Amino acid sequence: MTTTTGNPDCALPTDCRSLDGRREIQRLATRGSDVGGIPVARALPQKARRLVGAWCFLDHIGPTRLEPGMPRLKVGPHPHTSLQTFTWMMEGEILHRDSLGIEQPIRPGQVNLMTAGHGISHTEESIGDAERLHAAQLWIALPREHRDTTPRFDHYAELPEFGLGALTATLLVGHHGGHQAPTLSFSPLMGMDLAWRRRSRETLALDPAFEYGLLPLEGDAAVDGERFTVGEFAYLGRGHDALALDVEGEGRALLVGGVPLEGEIILWWNFVGHDRTEMEQALRQWEAGDPRFGDIPNPVGPRLVAPPPPWASQA
Ligand code: MN
Repeated sequence: MTTTTGNPDCALPTDCRSLDGRREIQRLATRGSDVGGIPVARALPQKARRLVGAWCFLDHIGPTRLEPGMPRLKVGPHPHTSLQTFTWMMEGEILHRDSLGIEQPIRPGQVNLMTAGHGISHTEESIGDAERLHAAQLWIALPREHRDTTPRFDHYAELPEFGLGALTATLLVGHHGGHQAPTLSFSPLMGMDLAWRRRSRETLALDPAFEYGLLPLEGDAAVDGERFTVGEFAYLGRGHDALALDVEGEGRALLVGGVPLEGEIILWWNFVGHDRTEMEQALRQWEAGDPRFGDIPNPVGPRLVAPPPPWASQA
């Protein structure tokens, strides 16, 4: 029985199997975008793939040089609802400030996790004198029963790091083998950074209940013999207990996975909602400066303004 994540545009069901039962990998291109003046490559969402588990947004930021006089990352106050923002820092330093009063720099090897739940607002800006910036920013949709949870912020300064053959794995959320990340999650989820400096072939254990995606961050990697490079995203589907990863030279990749999210979500601008009424209410409250989203004193830039919602023109 195949199921989809509820998106009629999905090119492949989550099982991604050919008729003879072999894995079929969905090859997706990332899309160039811009966040606060820094070039990013967006892997999720896209028309052909909205979600991987509860992961509903995946931006690969850099790697880019921060030349003097070039734009630095600077994102003014903006709101979030019903999701977690998840930042994995590889090079450089970013300062997070939010409406709970938290100020937290994030440095290489660390994760910042903001659980928006009922509502929060935050800013992000490059700090320090690092000459390069390289990060991944992801969003995790909260399941319906947790969508209104109390907002909170968690910083993970250290995460489990271990060898998988010639790969160095950093477990960002969830578990792998006997390792468990401390990261707060509301649905079965995993995220793992894989780095290598020489040719290697490793078999990674997978959870058949999870669907997975692999994003090359530097260099390229072959999944079950199919090569993927920076600018591509490999959707691996679910129902598999292992993947064979072939790498060479120097590189790194991000593996994300999770149990397919139940039910429909709406993702628009910085909000996750479960129906349009929720989205409209969040938008109106942000525009009105409602206390739901709090306040950030002396923010790095102006409050972000939502574009007109796509459904407004249908009214
Ligand atoms: Mn944000």
